[in-house]
This record gives sequence, C-alpha cells and structure tokens, in this order.
Amino acid sequence: TVSVVLFTSDLRLRDHPPLSAAVAAGDYVVPLFVRDAAIAASGFAAPNREAFLRDCLADLDAGLRERGGRLVVRSGDVVDVVRGIAARARAEEVHVAAGVSGYAQARERRLVRALEADGRRLRVHDAVITAVAPGAVTPSGGSDHFAVFTPYFTRWSAERPRRPLRAPRAVRVPEGVPSGRIPRREAVRGVAEGLAGGGEKAGRALLLSWRRSGLADYAAHHDDLPGDATSRLSPHLHFGTLSPAELVHLAREKYGPGSDAFVRQLCWRDFHHQVLAARPEASAADYRERHDHWREGTSAARDIQAWKEGRTGYPVVDAAMRQLLHEGWMHNRGRLLVASFLTKTLYVDWRVGAQHFLEHLVDGDIANNQLNWQWVAGTGTDTRPNRVLNPVLQGRRYDPDGVYVRRWLPELAGLAGRRVHEPWKLGAAERAGYDYPEPIVGLGEGLARFKGARERG
Ligand code: FAD
Repeated sequence: TVSVVLFTSDLRLRDHPPLSAAVAAGDYVVPLFVRDAAIAASGFAAPNREAFLRDCLADLDAGLRERGGRLVVRSGDVVDVVRGIAARARAEEVHVAAGVSGYAQARERRLVRALEADGRRLRVHDAVITAVAPGAVTPSGGSDHFAVFTPYFTRWSAERPRRPLRAPRAVRVPEGVPSGRIPRREAVRGVAEGLAGGGEKAGRALLLSWRRSGLADYAAHHDDLPGDATSRLSPHLHFGTLSPAELVHLAREKYGPGSDAFVRQLCWRDFHHQVLAARPEASAADYRERHDHWREGTSAARDIQAWKEGRTGYPVVDAAMRQLLHEGWMHNRGRLLVASFLTKTLYVDWRVGAQHFLEHLVDGDIANNQLNWQWVAGTGTDTRPNRVLNPVLQGRRYDPDGVYVRRWLPELAGLAGRRVHEPWKLGAAERAGYDYPEPIVGLGEGLARFKGARERG
C-alpha cells in the first residue's frame, strides 16, 4: 500500500504516530507538507515563524533523506493538494495529526469528505500535537472540557501518555511525486536579530543541554527574569519538532520528581488546547466574562504604540517588550506582566495585545496565545479575573537587581540596582541624564479606571 502523511504542527520524525502508522501499513509513504494558502492569507503567518518553519522543513527533509526518503512540499489549498498527491501516488490512506483550532478542525472535515469522494480514507491520530488529546479527560457533570486548570491538572496527571515512538528506520517515497522546493530561511525579511534556529535536531540539542544545565533549577527559578531558567522549548512545541507526549514521558520517567514544575507547564499547554478545541471561537471572542468598555481612540492608540515599542516609562514592561522585538520570544513572567499592563493598567482590549504578540512571537500559537491573553485580561479561565500585576512590584520581585531591565534598556544601563525600576524617583538633575520616558499613566490612575470599568460590567 501507499500512504500520504500530511505534516502540520508536528514537524518531526520521532514519536510521530501518523508517520509510524503509515510506515507500518505498507511499502510507500509520501511525507507531505502543504504551504497552506489560507494560512498565508489569514494574517497568521509572521516573519519569525516563517523563518523558523523553513528551518524545520529543511531539517525534516534531511532526516527523511537519511532514511532513504524525502519531504514533498507544495503550496495551495491544502485539500486540493492532498487530493491531487494522493491520486498521483495512488495512495489508499492519508494520515494526519488531530488538529485543535477551528481552522484545523474544519480542514479535517473537508479532508474526510474530499478523500471519501475519491474512495480514500483519512486516518486522524490523537495526542500528537498535545500530550493528552483534547476531550480525553472531561469533568464529571457532562461538560465537554475543563474551564479551570487545577482539576484539569489532577485528571491529566493521572493519564499515562504512551511510550514515545522511535523514528522509522526507513521511509520509501514512491517515484513520480516530485519533491518541490523548500524556501530558504535567508530569504525571509523582517526576522528578529536574536531568533533561535528551528528543526528537530536543534530542538533535541536544546532539550539535552537544558536538561543538563536548567532543569534542576527550573522549579526554584523559572520565574526569575534575568536568570532565564526556562527551557525555551516553546517554538519547538508549537511547530511539533519535539513531541509533548515524549517530553512528559521523559520528565516523569527519567528526570524524576524535580521535573514536576516543568510538567505542570506542559499541562498548561494541553489545558489551553482542550479549551480551544471545545470552544474554537475563543480565539477571538471573550471566553467566560464579556467586557465591552476597552479604551479606544487617540489616547489609547498613543498608549498602545508606546507599549509596542517598549516606551511606557515602566522599565520592566519596556524591557520585556524589547526582548520580544529582539528575540521574537519573551519570558513567561514578562508576558504576564506586559499583558496585565496593557489590559488592566491601560485598559486596552486583549485582542490588540494578542495580535501584536502573534506578529512577533516565534512560538505564537492560537491556543496558548489567545487563551493566555484572555486569562490575564480576566475574560478567560483565571479564577481571579480582577487581579492586577503592579509592574514596579513585579520588577522588584522577579528582577531584584535590575539585571534584566539593564540588559534590554541600554539607556538605563547606568542606573545600578533596583533603582532602575523607578527612574521617575530620581532627582531632576540625575533624571535628565537618562533618555527615558516618564510613565505614560500613573498606576493609581490605571487601577481606578480598571475598577470603574469592571464595576460598570
Ligand atoms: P517553559 O517554562 O520551559 O515551559 C515549558 C513549556 O510549557 C513551554 O515551552 C510551553 O509549551 C508550555 N507552557 C509554559 N507555560 C505555559 C502557559 N502559561 N500556557 C501554555 N503553555 C505553557 N506560549 C506559547 O507557546 N505560545 C504563545 O503564543 C504564548 N503566548 C502567551 C501570551 C501570554 C499573554 C502569556 C501570559 C503566555 C503565553 N504563552 C505562550 C505561554 C508561556 O509564556 C510560554 O509558553 C513560555 O514563556 C515559553 O517559554 P519556555 O519554552 O521557556 O517555557
């Protein structure tokens, strides 16, 4: 038999159930990636992710070639392309990982119908993009998903992800299906200077080095801004160059109890994915609490611009926003505090912030981004939707010596210690020596506006 494997957010060879099933099922496999015209047109594509994706495709192709195969790359409507390739290769089955977003779910439905019409079958594999499949655990009481993290974590932790699958030894691609061209990373414009490299090999190298040097410190230090003790595996999880099920397995079986805090974060990822899978509209619409009083107009536009550029006058906010522009990535503590600042202190709609993040984040992901934004904005799954993070206290707590701020705000490099978190407190003469803006809003003023708006409902 001949099968097609449609790669989507699972650009790896290890622990890849669709590929392993296709190889086990028969003689020939067409490993296919479609540069989907609908995604390109949706505005979801961004230069940082495009560059990282090209690394992933080149690496996937190299890995397949080491096994006697190659990657087939096409552009166009994904259903038309799959249909055409399956017909050309005389494939009986098409394998794909179960999708999570509304778009991925619609793609699956269209593929089933189109392939059925041609007498072919779509085989959809669960728990490829997440460690535990969305819907595999549900709350008692009949709801189709968990809306609160802690009970989800308890149920999720009781699941045993499958043992990771090895990469297939050999992949034989039928003749008569040309490979197509993998575009070069260097040709992408507007890529962040400090962007990490993509691909399964790069992901595994990062995993191994972090396991040696970072994992032991993770529980105690993952919130420290300057220490940067988190894994930075998020783009690899977004593009699927690493398997989340394998990471959970490795953490539990090999890395031991010291990895619990890390596993909990992987569970957060699955949590948001199962919310989105059940409520795809939550990518744009308020999930639980609806709020309509977001600021708009000229003064809001000016504040949004200052936030995007990292010029709000709050050093830790600005440092995190500049990290985003420079690396296409931001520390989780930074994401939390800049999102709180935008949605609560400035009272700007979370969708504005989520869109800006998606334009820059190399790990920009509909489930994780939109639902984390909703969580922070108080429209989503946070059980304390009115908490507001104070940027000065956050700075002092997570960057006590100001190292992170000085790293990203060279204009404040001369300000030693924690004084860097409140430059407005300097005397006028000293203040004049720093080319750094005054705060765009007072924290008290922001808090009063937030409370007023929430009281109005
Ligand atoms: P680690 O701390 O090493 O965690 C390991 C993995 O767990 C991460 O790679 C990630 O896949 C997952 N994870 C960790 N924290 C979370 C979380 N809160 N929610 C979901 N998964 C998590 N993550 C994205 O992958 N894409 C996004 O677009 C994204 N947008 C965010 C927007 C906001 C406003 C906030 C507050 C968080 C967002 N996150 C997003 C979650 C989190 O900030 C990143 O996953 C994390 O910073 C990535 O760094 P790391 O790989 O070093 O994480």
